[in-house]
Amino acid sequence: MTDEQYLYLVLTAVYLTDCVSCVHIRGLVFRACRPGRFRWLRPSSQLGNPNGGWMFRFPLPPLGSFVVCGPWPFSVSPEGILSYIAEAPQADRRADQVVMALAWGDVRTVKCLDKEIHVNGSLFVRAASGLVAGHWVSLLNRLRNEKASNRAAAIQSQLSETFCAPAARDRWNSLVRDASDLRLACNSLFALFFLFAPLAVWRMGWSLWLLIPAGAAVVNVAFIVLDFCRIHRKYYSKENGHRRLHAAVMIANPLAAIRSVDVVSRDILAEFHPLTAANVLCQKDSVTRLARSWLLDARHPMLPVCPTEDRLAREIEEWYRRATIDAAEKFLSEIDLNPAELLHPDPPDGATVRSYCPRCLRQFEHATGNCESCGGISLQTWDQNQNRASIDEKAPIPQYASTGLVAPP
Ligand SMILES: [Zn+2]
Repeated sequence: MTDEQYLYLVLTAVYLTDCVSCVHIRGLVFRACRPGRFRWLRPSSQLGNPNGGWMFRFPLPPLGSFVVCGPWPFSVSPEGILSYIAEAPQADRRADQVVMALAWGDVRTVKCLDKEIHVNGSLFVRAASGLVAGHWVSLLNRLRNEKASNRAAAIQSQLSETFCAPAARDRWNSLVRDASDLRLACNSLFALFFLFAPLAVWRMGWSLWLLIPAGAAVVNVAFIVLDFCRIHRKYYSKENGHRRLHAAVMIANPLAAIRSVDVVSRDILAEFHPLTAANVLCQKDSVTRLARSWLLDARHPMLPVCPTEDRLAREIEEWYRRATIDAAEKFLSEIDLNPAELLHPDPPDGATVRSYCPRCLRQFEHATGNCESCGGISLQTWDQNQNRASIDEKAPIPQYASTGLVAPP
């Protein structure tokens, strides 16, 4: 292998490391290999750690896009805040969470330090990114400043906003328009590094003629940094540190500049619920699959639902989960998805199958028992006459008593 080939091998390896992102276990990734053809996927459970996984972005910038969304990283209720949510989008595991419950009257300060949200000077939760942490801190401070009598309505209003599809669609379309020149510049830089420069070296060797593509690359990177800062300032106006950091990284490592569209697009829909983002970015069948998975987990959370006996913590968790389900089901109805139908399990796979897990929908040959993958949720049976679920569509959301936990005193 020649020196030039070694050099390009190293450059390619550096570039590919820029195509890898760590995503929190609760995050939902929207990845497109072609414009407008998004697929949603969860972070890998094999590559990563218990709280997150590595995701690969499509390495060719002309075609790829990358967006990450997630639920609120805490529970809130009119009574207080809880640094825990029961949601476990990964089928058989939940993120490590420190359980801290505080009544609103005891919340004195809410601040963020990079990704960390601190309440009264102590770590409360870690957000998926520094950009998102600032949003959650603003939200908590807004709710804290509400009158106690208005707080329930204020939380429900904030939850409704996370399901506002027109606002999410406007934000996404606006970014696509604003980033069109930036995307073009990224493509051009990619072509300079990985097409024209190697071609020039191969045809002419190391000569002064290479100053031409080198100069073009400098101009290209300068444009990318300036345009990146303009777009970042528009959509993340308060995040000056994040903007300066990425601008400095792009100047120091021009290969990172090729991925600058990903930096501005990654958290563009972070304020919205993943179902809302899916409705904006994905095809209908993909939204339906996500809605079913989310609704099953929300209505039948993995056990234990709340890992503490603290009464305040349990009440906050239960109130917040119920409010989120109400808002989500209203949204699903608006986009012509029937929540009750989404909860129906598939028909039995064979004559020997006698029960299923209402959360993960695995099927079992015994009529009674528990699903260990879901923490011990009780199995359910089909209605034998209609060969469909014996689920009561108007059944209340499972509470502590029905999930095998001791009810709050
Ligand atoms: Zn299960």
